[in-house]
Amino acid sequence: MFEASYYKKTDDGSVICELCPHHCRIAPDKSGICHVRKNIEGTLYSLNYGIVSSAALDPIEKKPLFNFMQGSYIFSIGSIGCNLGCSFCQNWQIATGNEEAVKFSEKNVSPQIIVEAALKSIEKGNIGIAYTYNEPTVWFEYMRDIATLAQKYNLKNVMVSNGYIEKEPLGELLKLIDAFNIDLKGYNNEFYRTLTKSTIDPVLETLKTIASNGNHLEIAYLVIPGENDNPTEFESVVKWIRDTLGDSVSLHINRYFPCHKLKIPATPIETLNILFDIANKYLKNVYLGNVR
Ligand code: SF4
Repeated sequence: MFEASYYKKTDDGSVICELCPHHCRIAPDKSGICHVRKNIEGTLYSLNYGIVSSAALDPIEKKPLFNFMQGSYIFSIGSIGCNLGCSFCQNWQIATGNEEAVKFSEKNVSPQIIVEAALKSIEKGNIGIAYTYNEPTVWFEYMRDIATLAQKYNLKNVMVSNGYIEKEPLGELLKLIDAFNIDLKGYNNEFYRTLTKSTIDPVLETLKTIASNGNHLEIAYLVIPGENDNPTEFESVVKWIRDTLGDSVSLHINRYFPCHKLKIPATPIETLNILFDIANKYLKNVYLGNVR
């Protein structure tokens, strides 16, 4: 266990976590929405510090990052927990931190061990470390410590995230993370509220902050039939990306498959093609994902 950053204490023994926009008020002995930050006797602890549920040397394009050090590999790690509640989560076992995921996770893995593993993979084409698989925001302290060390060894840091994070911790990460892939899960608040248990505005703010700071940014958009595939509304999102973030930001339009609680059938290829053609009118780098 590791004391969390970004929280404040209250007079009644509760704490308020300020790492992400949920701002959970957490009573003693309870955890926040992400299940991995717990109030123990008035102090907030990160429960997943040093817990690694998954590790693999992946092609950088798998993150997906198509315009950042193309053709390289990246040592990718994940933990448990997430601050969103997506009904279509593709990694729900580790995101929800279910018993099996916790059982098979490595515990007490120091940042030094992670960096050494990344350095050993350089001969296989590794360029650094990616924080991915589950939501790395809720692994903030561990990611920050690893990334700080990794930077000293000239390793690149990559974050694959839902973008639901407060400005101040994001500001710390901007100095450490070389490339981001951020999910834009829908085009309105209703979608975010209903299907992800969050809100869209903080995600848009995160995108703006990363782009204006100049870190490499790519966006992933998962197309769910009937939920976020309206061509007119999609076009307005793409225009927002062009006008606010610039037309060179890469957009990955990904095919959805039924997963976790959502049983809607997979996205038809023709829908993906329609959205691809719309995005292509406004942006220079548009890709289809999860298709042959
Ligand atoms: S990081 Fe977790 S505990 Fe903190 S506000 Fe977000 S969901 Fe709540």
